[in-house]
Order: sequence, then C-alpha cells, then structure tokens
Amino acid sequence: MQVLISRLGSDDAAARAREDRLVALSAGAARVLVVPHLYHLPETSSIWARLAALDGPVLAATWLHPRPAEWLLRRHGVGASGLTVLSLLADDCFAALRALLGEAGGAGTVEELSEAATPRWYPVVDRDRCRECGHCRQFCLFGVYAAGPDGQLVVANPDRCKPGCPACSRVCPEGAILFPLYTQDDAIAGAPGRLMTPDPAARRMLARHCGIPCPACRQAGPAATPAPGSDAPICPECGRALASAPEPEPAAGEVFDEIDALIDDLDALTERRS
Ligand code: SF4
Ligand code: SF4
Repeated sequence: MQVLISRLGSDDAAARAREDRLVALSAGAARVLVVPHLYHLPETSSIWARLAALDGPVLAATWLHPRPAEWLLRRHGVGASGLTVLSLLADDCFAALRALLGEAGGAGTVEELSEAATPRWYPVVDRDRCRECGHCRQFCLFGVYAAGPDGQLVVANPDRCKPGCPACSRVCPEGAILFPLYTQDDAIAGAPGRLMTPDPAARRMLARHCGIPCPACRQAGPAATPAPGSDAPICPECGRALASAPEPEPAAGEVFDEIDALIDDLDALTERRS
C-alpha cells in the first residue's frame, strides 16, 4: 500500500498539524509520499508522472471531497491498480486511515516532494456520471473542453477556465461537473451526498446560444424568444417562444374517461358492422 498525502500548502497551522498526524499514523505501516496540493499541480508537473508510475494500490488523503479527489487522480492515471480516497476535510479521517491500514506496524518510509505551484481553477469531471452529451463543451466560450479522438469529453485546456466561475456545472444535466474549491455550493464542490441539479436559467441560455434541440418542445436552432413584455407562452426548458400554450396534462380521471369513450365508439362501430 502506498499512502499519498496532499498538503493544503497554506500557513494554516491546524491544517499542517492534521497532515503531520496522518503522516505519523501511516509511516509505521506503509510507504508514504507527501506532495503539494494536487489540485494546483500544473498539468505537466513531474510529480503527476511520478504518481502515475506508482505500483500497487494507492490510498490518497487530500483537502478535497472524495469524489473530485478520485476523478482528479484518475484523470492523471494515478491508482490504476486500486485507489482509495480519504478527505482531510472529514472529522473521521484518522479513524478511517487506521481502519484501512490495519494494525500492521513496522518500517514504513516517508518521502516529501515539493514543487512551486500557483493557484488554479478548473472543472473536474465525474466520468461515472458523464453521458457525453457535449452540452458543457458547447456552453463554454473559452475552449476549456474538447472532444477527444473517440468523441469523448476532454478537459483539454483547464487553465482557460475563469477563476471562481462554476457556470458549466449548472448546465450539466447529470451533475458530473465539479469545481472542488467552490465554497458557495457544496454540491458543486462534490461534497458527499450532494449532487448538482441543472439550473433552468442556465439551461435556457445554453439552448438559445447553442441551438441544441430542446427535449421538452423539440425546437432546435436559434428560434425567436418572445419580445420583452410579451405574454406569449415560452418553453420552460429552453425559453424559446411556443406557437401556442402547451396543452395541460390531463388528470388521471380524465384519461380514464377518454379511454371509456374510445371503447364505447369501438363497440358502436362493431355493432354497426355486425
Ligand atoms: S454536460 Fe455533463 S454529461 Fe454532458 S458532456 Fe458535459 S460533463 Fe458530460
Ligand atoms: S466555468 Fe466557465 S470558463 Fe470554466 S469551463 Fe465552465 S463554462 Fe468554461
């Protein structure tokens, strides 16, 4: 087992103390590698190459929630033989580490790798949830996303992302886009048990700007939106003007009445023919 501990990299003494306690707990049982904050490491960092080359299962403790930590590490090929993530944000991380390492004591090693890194901001995609619809790629004006050779979504230019902005996470229909350092909505940060749901206003903006077919009204392309002040009906999903107000869904009782009437008509038809 290789234990990877990612430092916060600030002057926060309490954070440093938590990291050092994890190092001390791990050092008796495993090879320990201490690295700078993984989210801020440059794409081309030699540390990523070193981590991707680790043999065997990896237990990684970071200052991110587990879901974004896992997908950040997987994007860089870390833990292909097994990956477990622990969050230093969680109160129970020490107990969880003890349970994972077992009671084994002995000669572990500790190695610390350092590298200067400037703060970064970019999306991390949960590949288990992504359905490759391409909406984030169409929505982003800055070319952060691209289609890979097989059409798969790729975060091709992460550093073109606008710092502090999580806009595309509000458009994704699957809650797959995470901004791990976003502090105003823990669903966007990927907190356990929280899932981002699409924002209707962001979805309407996407439909209007990109002309994607609307799953509700079936219109596609840059169809006209109603004039300001108009009370013309609009599609609640894409915001495009509707030719007429949508038919209200019939109540369950009305559906049965319609079926009864149809059966009566069929009976009458059958009687006339016999
Ligand atoms: S919008 Fe979401 S589901 Fe669609 S390609 Fe982007 S990440 Fe995947
Ligand atoms: S947050 Fe904005 S700039 Fe960054 S990837 Fe999403 S749409 Fe593009």
